[in-house]
Amino acid sequence: MDTLLAGYRRFRAGSWLQQRQRFEALADQGQQPQALVLGCVDSRADPGMIFDAVPGEMLTVRNVANLVPPYAPDGAGHGTSAALEFAVRVLQVPHIVVLGHGLCGGVRVLLEGAPREVQDFVAPWMSMAASVREQVRQCVHAEERQRRAEFEVVKLSLANLMTFPWIAERVAVGTLRTHGAWFAIRSGELMLLQSDGSFQPAS
Ligand SMILES: [Zn+2]
Repeated sequence: MDTLLAGYRRFRAGSWLQQRQRFEALADQGQQPQALVLGCVDSRADPGMIFDAVPGEMLTVRNVANLVPPYAPDGAGHGTSAALEFAVRVLQVPHIVVLGHGLCGGVRVLLEGAPREVQDFVAPWMSMAASVREQVRQCVHAEERQRRAEFEVVKLSLANLMTFPWIAERVAVGTLRTHGAWFAIRSGELMLLQSDGSFQPAS
């Protein structure tokens, strides 16, 4: 906690002070973010850091392995779907970015099985992406299999976004665009999903 509070003190003396007017304007006028970024909880793949975002610029929702669950308005506690609803129906963001990343522990659980200590929630959560495990079964090398699975999880999340009727409607009329991306932790490079299904470095 001391490390966190030391960071808070740096924030108050640094970027909060520099952006004070922005914070005040956001408090007075409300937020109008241009994107929702859905990333992984991994501490090394912070969307705000990767996109060097300023306050008010983008909404962020993070979960294990950046997964979008299928649309299921069944009254259960759907945290990610609630964030999507807020972003799309209330704030009407024009962009949703699904941001995967390298060395993803959630994807590793999907491929190699869940250790006992993550059986309660992570294992059933990752089972949502069981189809991805089948898709990468042919990959011989573990590293290549992991990376391909990380790419395929991004595509699965993008496909699941379209099961939400109010997302599909906005995409159809052109007021919302969805994007896939993947961040390499070691090199700090961002790759973007192309229309041909490949991931290419962002310029
Ligand atoms: Zn991850």
